[in-house]
Amino acid sequence: MTKPYVTGAAGACPAQLRQWFHGRRRELPWRVSVGADGLRDPYRTWVAEIMLQQTRVEAVVPYFEAFLAHFPTVDALASAPEDEVLAAWAGLGYYRRARHLQAAAQTVVAAGAFPITATEWQALPGIGPYTSAAIASLVSGERLPVVDGNVKRVVARLNGLELRRDAPALHRASEQAGSAWMKQLPTADLAAAGELNEALMELGATVCKARQALCGECPWQSSCTAFQEGNPHAYPLPPRKKEVVARRLQCLMIGAGKHWRVSQRQSGWNPGFFEPPLMQSGEEREQFEAAHALLPGRRLGEFSHAITNHRFRIEVWHYPSEGGEAVKATTDLALTTITRKALAIVQKSI
Ligand code: SF4
Repeated sequence: MTKPYVTGAAGACPAQLRQWFHGRRRELPWRVSVGADGLRDPYRTWVAEIMLQQTRVEAVVPYFEAFLAHFPTVDALASAPEDEVLAAWAGLGYYRRARHLQAAAQTVVAAGAFPITATEWQALPGIGPYTSAAIASLVSGERLPVVDGNVKRVVARLNGLELRRDAPALHRASEQAGSAWMKQLPTADLAAAGELNEALMELGATVCKARQALCGECPWQSSCTAFQEGNPHAYPLPPRKKEVVARRLQCLMIGAGKHWRVSQRQSGWNPGFFEPPLMQSGEEREQFEAAHALLPGRRLGEFSHAITNHRFRIEVWHYPSEGGEAVKATTDLALTTITRKALAIVQKSI
């Protein structure tokens, strides 16, 4: 039976957490203050938050530095060709984020200023409640709690909440806990809200870890229900498993050398990126061959690819003939990972 829960964890004091954070926070290239009040640079903060949405901190650092070197200002990002932005994003995945980032940069440039409140940030493409709260707390000092998987884990353990990791009730409890902690911050300290949010996430990422809670290093140990019970890893409960969808696709590589027939994806996964024709069945491939006057292709091999809960097995077929279709120099384009994997098989086989 689910235990009744309290929010805010009365004994868990934000001042203690901030003090702990001062002593051990990681130096990261986006953690740069722009004034004596400790508030952050909006452009760097925003780019970092978008990159961090589905990617680990360690993986983001080199991409962040290269991206900022390429597009040092919001104006540079707004006016760059889309292909250049996508190419600079390649490797981070979830490319829709890069397209939204550039669309938002164009809105900011047209408006002549960055947003200030979370509500204003959320009006930009690609920015949801979590990201807008994180950015506004860091760059404007807005007292809004952020809730991610790390924060939910800490709140679940502190309060002994027997809730699933993805349960809306755990999200609500975490927001309530965060709001309660925000109210305890010193009013004149503008940097406090952003710092508390970062400290909470840092606690979850480096101490209150999913598989290994390092309670001996935790500033909130004495207020923690899970620690007192002696079983931190019992919280939160695991989510219900998503059904895995298996699909077999045929990837048609038409062309030769560096020139292949690809088209730009307009929707679905990786919009804006280039990909060769993908078929779901041999019959579809044969119809495609006939419609485009291609000689039957040669099967070169296959590879696996996973996107969310989809598991693809992809056969690579080669058509040396151009078949009257336009081909492009793939070296100059932002390619999907499927395309890169298919090209690697082509290069090995012919
Ligand atoms: S005491 Fe342990 S379980 Fe509790 S919040 Fe700290 S690290 Fe997590």
